[in-house]
Amino acid sequence: LVLVVPQVAAAAPVFVEGVVQETTSRWTEDGDRIVTEATVVTPDGPVVVSQLGGHVDGLTMRQFPGPEPLLPGMRVAIEAHRDTDLSQRVHTLVDSVKVMAWPPGYVRTGPTKAGHYLYWESGCVFVRVDAAGTKQLPGDTEFPVIDAAIQTWNTAAEGCSYMRIVQDAPEEREVGNDRVNLIKFRDATWCRPATNKDPARCYADAAAGITTAVYVDDADSPRDGAIVDADIEINGKNFAISHENMSLGTAPCKADLQNTLTHELGHLLGLEHPCRTPGDPGRLDNTGAPVPLCSQTNDPAITESTMYNYQDCEETKKTTLEADDIAGVCGIYPKSEDPGSCEAVSSSTATCVGCSTSGRPLPAMLLFVGTALLLARRPRRHRR
Ligand SMILES: [Zn+2]
Repeated sequence: LVLVVPQVAAAAPVFVEGVVQETTSRWTEDGDRIVTEATVVTPDGPVVVSQLGGHVDGLTMRQFPGPEPLLPGMRVAIEAHRDTDLSQRVHTLVDSVKVMAWPPGYVRTGPTKAGHYLYWESGCVFVRVDAAGTKQLPGDTEFPVIDAAIQTWNTAAEGCSYMRIVQDAPEEREVGNDRVNLIKFRDATWCRPATNKDPARCYADAAAGITTAVYVDDADSPRDGAIVDADIEINGKNFAISHENMSLGTAPCKADLQNTLTHELGHLLGLEHPCRTPGDPGRLDNTGAPVPLCSQTNDPAITESTMYNYQDCEETKKTTLEADDIAGVCGIYPKSEDPGSCEAVSSSTATCVGCSTSGRPLPAMLLFVGTALLLARRPRRHRR
């Protein structure tokens, strides 16, 4: 059987089906159009398609009616055609988009009183490890484990997010609102220690780790929601901090350091748990859907995610990110909105939170938020 294939005309349709991995929006040279190039991963490899419209520099251009804007994580069936620009470069132009599946839902920390979700303003977050480390892992083995947890966030989302976690050299420090985002082990007590004027502040025994964020919570500030400090504490009092199932700690339940820390770094970036425990307030995910109670969901997109609220003793599955986690960091910090800066939060900008235009400081409106990873057996479920 011989098929006679006609000469491909310039406008012959091109069908592209797969998952959008990455999108880049830009202004055309004349500043008249925003165009978005999207990389779609198909069974035959990646295909780059070009769509009129997109989001650049705080402006969105979109046609009504028009195809759905392509977003990372979306599963799509695209009809397109090829055409050349005046320089004879070939583009694959999107004609229609059928969305087979939306990007997975994720939940952000917040909102502020004015309704904004939390975020870092710079393209990087600087973290520092307390040089004391932990005595529950031999020698300095905790440091490469911390490096690995950080690299997981930096590499798993690098296709669609600009955000990077950068490490400063370890230093002996205590946590606090000091613009140093500290990773601190608590081997002896699961508390922030007492000071001259404030008693020790202790945390829930069941929490393997906790993240404390300080952020702008001021409806009059354009920076509302900006995180200015975030510290992570790891519980070595109630759990044996472990690596490769080995720990010098004596607590009966081993909490894998990389597992706990990868989850806490998600909180540091501004991600919230994907389901609610009974004490949690009602929440919405990024699609506007209500966040379910953990006891009322079996959805593996939730229970298998790194941001899932619970972990088991010796668990390691949170050391890798899942689709929801990647969608979260790429949704908050998408490549298309790269601020192009990599700066620590400076004390001057931080103290200027809530400054009036005359420079007279108004009371800084900062709030603490505590988000813990509970180390507990998952709620039991009925099995059929
Ligand atoms: Zn958590």
